[in-house]
Amino acid sequence: IPRRRFGQNFLIDQGIIGAIVSAIDPKRSDTVVEIGPGLGAITVPLLERVDRLHVVEIDRDLIARLKKQHPAERLAIHEGDALAFDFASIGSDLRLVGNLPYNISTPLLFHLASYGQQVRDMHFMLQKEVVERMVAEPGCADYGRLSVMLQYSFWLEWLIDVPPESFDPPPKVDSAVVRLIPKPPEQLTAKNPERLSTLVQAAFAQRRKMLRNNLKGILDDAGFAALGIAPTLRPEDLPVEDYVRIANFLAG
Ligand code: SAM
Repeated sequence: IPRRRFGQNFLIDQGIIGAIVSAIDPKRSDTVVEIGPGLGAITVPLLERVDRLHVVEIDRDLIARLKKQHPAERLAIHEGDALAFDFASIGSDLRLVGNLPYNISTPLLFHLASYGQQVRDMHFMLQKEVVERMVAEPGCADYGRLSVMLQYSFWLEWLIDVPPESFDPPPKVDSAVVRLIPKPPEQLTAKNPERLSTLVQAAFAQRRKMLRNNLKGILDDAGFAALGIAPTLRPEDLPVEDYVRIANFLAG
């Protein structure tokens, strides 16, 4: 019986499952980590392709089931909350995969953004609306904090559209599979990533307001002038590079 509180919508569409595994195209020695294996829809075909698979799962009943079905040498089970899990403890050059519980997808993406240096790539099934926000460009209504922070850290690629019927039970929303590839350190030009994060949060606090209002007490008109950025712009008008420039200006 699926548990609503753990966001359990199990994949049942073999075509979609095959397309996800093909998109990942794992090599036997790859360190693949699946978040939320559930009943194993993606886990089982992945196990056929890699020597050893890691999974992070919160539901004890599902863990007990997985333990019975797969020997520990093949399937390393990490019991717990992916939001608090230290992915670096598994190793480096990780390949993360998951049909993520939609209720935690946004905080989980922010959590994972801090593991860029340990991760080779990520392939996630998400609510389509979240993927639209992730890949949105400046000037669009969907462009916001999630777009800026994820586009700063990753290259993003929209891979597969997935309808509700591909799951049991079907979710109320459309889904999509997206690929995230961490950018190399030399492209991460924010002097202080924490500063960038708090700046972007403040900038988008009230989307309809001008940057001057949202950044009151953070950046004054002289600062805007020095950066050549109009204080009358809305947060959604500013490209990622300009947020990085403001953050670096503030960092001194
Ligand atoms: N991968 C399976 C599939 O595609 O059929 C299950 C996907 S289901 C949408 C989400 C899975 O994530 C469930 O197995 C659920 O128990 C697990 N989960 C929910 N919250 C979690 C959390 N905070 N940390 C780790 N796993 C979680």
